[in-house]
Amino acid sequence: MLENLPIVQGDPLWALLHQFNADQRDHKIDMLVGVYRDETGQTPVMQQVQKAEQKLAAVAESKSYKMLSGNLEFNDHMAKFLLGDSERFSDQCTIQTVGGSGALRVIADFVATLSPDAVIWNTNPGYLNHRPIMEGAGLNVEPFRWQHVGGVLDIEACFEDLEQAKEGDILLLHGSCHNPSGVDPSLAQWQQFIDFCLAKKVVPFIDIAYQGFGDGPEEDAAGLRLFVEQVDFMLVAASCSKNMGLYCERTGVAMVITNDHSQHAPLRTLLERITRANYSMPPNHGAAVASLLFSDPEPWLAELSVCRERINDLRKALGNLLLEMNAPVSLQAVTRQKGMFSLLPLTPEQMTALREKHAIYGMLNGRINIAGLKQAQVSYLAKALVDVMKS
Ligand code: PMP
Repeated sequence: MLENLPIVQGDPLWALLHQFNADQRDHKIDMLVGVYRDETGQTPVMQQVQKAEQKLAAVAESKSYKMLSGNLEFNDHMAKFLLGDSERFSDQCTIQTVGGSGALRVIADFVATLSPDAVIWNTNPGYLNHRPIMEGAGLNVEPFRWQHVGGVLDIEACFEDLEQAKEGDILLLHGSCHNPSGVDPSLAQWQQFIDFCLAKKVVPFIDIAYQGFGDGPEEDAAGLRLFVEQVDFMLVAASCSKNMGLYCERTGVAMVITNDHSQHAPLRTLLERITRANYSMPPNHGAAVASLLFSDPEPWLAELSVCRERINDLRKALGNLLLEMNAPVSLQAVTRQKGMFSLLPLTPEQMTALREKHAIYGMLNGRINIAGLKQAQVSYLAKALVDVMKS
């Protein structure tokens, strides 16, 4: 059997991370992995999560199996968090998944079962794992350009490429804090995507992994909610990895929204059959913690806003310095971008120079995690960026 083992290329991110760990320079900066870091460089467990875990341990409720749809209380909380007070709450069918990635795969399998010829239209640049997950389910993926001018999405380029989309195809959009570019549509642009889906009968699929990391939990769901108000049928994948810091607890949901309630029971059965055939059911710990956070959300939301404000302050500080230094305008878009990531307008060679000369680690495609930065390092980064862009 092993003679058929393919030579598979490793994940470039983890290879760079190994290099970072081996780097002996004290001033090295890790802007690689997409996790939040505080000013001390830690990815802390949120205080509210710790409290919830202590509570759960004290109660020590049975570890008996949950439902096939996972933790139902969590699913309801997530649906409310995503949809707000939308009247379409009763139109959603939500199941708990193994993180946002699990949600993406469950929905991909769902689409592949019902509509195997549907093409997934995927932003380019896009989240590194979208294509493998969709292709893993046997679906075809086509890119459409996700470019910006000064941080504003170039929607004309999107629609030029999406011209090829046919009825029944899927438009995969990031709910907020686009990974890797940090470029989100304005509300008017969200409306243009809705008009496009309605006109072309294309199904929207929103992956929302950073709700609360851009402008706030409500604001970051605005595009998703605008879609919910106007389309009968759509797909959603959501994650609690970032906004609750539950990364390794693998906590998320897959949601299908349809106003045809006669479809809800068979739809849920299909979703459950997909998870059952893969891993039976998701782990409960993260969902139990999340349910406690949702039941008294203010203290958690306050912690989340500290994370968001830290990132936004870093963006402002970096943007101001770059302006003062007369850095290329293309670099200054960093202040308009949202969430943890920005895609620097640097070539792979310039990203390599940033790493080799200045010990600043970002992805070769230019993606950096702003949350990997400390306030005291902003000026060093700004100077290094200007330096590598000169050469
Ligand atoms: N979607 C996007 C756009 C992401 O950036 C991520 C996480 N990097 C995910 C989904 C997956 O999140 P999770 O860790 O919950 O699987």
